[in-house]
Amino acid sequence: MTGRIEFDWQLSGSGWATCRIADAVAEAKYVVSYCTDALADLIYGLEGMYRPDPVERVSFDLEPVEIRWVLRGVGAGVDVSIHRFPDMSASFDAPDADGTVSWRSTQPRRRLVHAVVGAVQKVLQEHGEAGYEARWVRFPFPTGALQDLLRLHLLHDECDQPHEP
Ligand SMILES: [Zn+2]
Repeated sequence: MTGRIEFDWQLSGSGWATCRIADAVAEAKYVVSYCTDALADLIYGLEGMYRPDPVERVSFDLEPVEIRWVLRGVGAGVDVSIHRFPDMSASFDAPDADGTVSWRSTQPRRRLVHAVVGAVQKVLQEHGEAGYEARWVRFPFPTGALQDLLRLHLLHDECDQPHEP
């Protein structure tokens, strides 16, 4: 497992967001559309990492590219593989292996979830719920999902970093 993980979510325009993830080795950036509730889906996927035998898939629509997150719990870590498919309408049922691996890293769950929770809290601080919905348009800010993920993180991850709202 590498020692660094960064995650960032920027609302970049009406119905678009820029998602950035990086570890010590590589960085990936995706411009994600509001065709799906991408940020909420990713949070739900991470919540799945607290269940037994965790495997979750989350797709982002980049119109037309599909970015598919495959999250697998491995011991105290999460293996993140991000697969890229050229056309989401064609790859909906395609196996992961048909995509090209765009970014991959295994991280301690504690660090990965901490990074995502912090980034989502930052989005809320910057825009507020109303501002988020005005920019993301089709879906409200995922308040309940964020609270659930933070609760799981605090309960199970023994995180010693601060969690400022
Ligand atoms: Zn934490």
